[in-house]
Amino acid sequence: MSLLLSNVTKKFGEHVAVNKLNLEIPDSELFGFLGGNGAGKTTTFRMILGLLDQTAGEITWNGESINYHKSHLIGYLPEERGLYPKLKVKEQLIYLGKLRGMTKQSALTELKKWLDRFQIPNYIDKKVEELSKGNQQKIQFISAVIHRPKLLILDEPFSGLDPINVEMLKEAVIDIKESGTSVVFSSHQMSHVEELCENICILRDGTAVVEGNIKEIKRSFGKKNVRIVSDESIDFLQDVNGVLSFKRRNDGCELQISDEQVSQEILSKLAGNGFIRKFELEEPSLNDIFIEKVGENYE
Ligand code: ATP
Repeated sequence: MSLLLSNVTKKFGEHVAVNKLNLEIPDSELFGFLGGNGAGKTTTFRMILGLLDQTAGEITWNGESINYHKSHLIGYLPEERGLYPKLKVKEQLIYLGKLRGMTKQSALTELKKWLDRFQIPNYIDKKVEELSKGNQQKIQFISAVIHRPKLLILDEPFSGLDPINVEMLKEAVIDIKESGTSVVFSSHQMSHVEELCENICILRDGTAVVEGNIKEIKRSFGKKNVRIVSDESIDFLQDVNGVLSFKRRNDGCELQISDEQVSQEILSKLAGNGFIRKFELEEPSLNDIFIEKVGENYE
């Protein structure tokens, strides 16, 4: 049982927005879909949901194509948020719940449960336009999950939220995943993806440049990071062979090195250089990998 994309391509005229994409997302998985602006994430989501036809390739979910008749099983948080500003939260979410096969009462019960969880129970009778952007986003999230979908697509769910709301939403997403739903989400913030996902795909100009298990991706990247905290000046480390980048920090530095061996070379050079408070050899971050594969810094 899974969401399967086989050789999916989307062209807009001559422009190839998504190029021969292959993905397999099993049930109860939190899958991170990454890429720079214009890489093809939203286009892929729209194809998965049947809102756009692919130019070539096949998309199936549990062996069948996704169409209108499955809408009660699917949840979508679109990039362009689409609530009606003049309608009250209650009216709107009951309406959306009913569209997905819920009774008025079950929609209301679910809505109240979510509003309590998001600590905004008194917003039930407010018009959407009266809510702050972040709270509107929480309502929009509820509209994507109120009917307990089995496949949930979230386009940039954390953008524009303060850190407390980001945490609240992350916990909600983890619970939904653990209840057996497959969740696919896009984000420009690598730290969110690193925290939530086991598997990812990074798109560059419509083509998957990295895909698979995050731990394996990091291991096979080769390069490592070294974090040093020291009171001494350690700028001379940037000239050591195998040091690929050097970032000065207020309490020391961060280095990217070509392989683990270089860390030993650095350690021996530091030995005669006064007191070292911290020396840590780390896996590369997803941000490092993203920058190398996509070529820009999105953190
Ligand atoms: P972002 O992170 O900026 O939201 P994205 O990865 O979601 O980007 P898409 O919105 O999927 O990227 O766009 C992929 C490419 O397809 C872009 O070059 C975009 O200009 C193009 N594109 C998207 N929709 C259309 C359309 N309806 N007509 C023509 N070109 C389109």
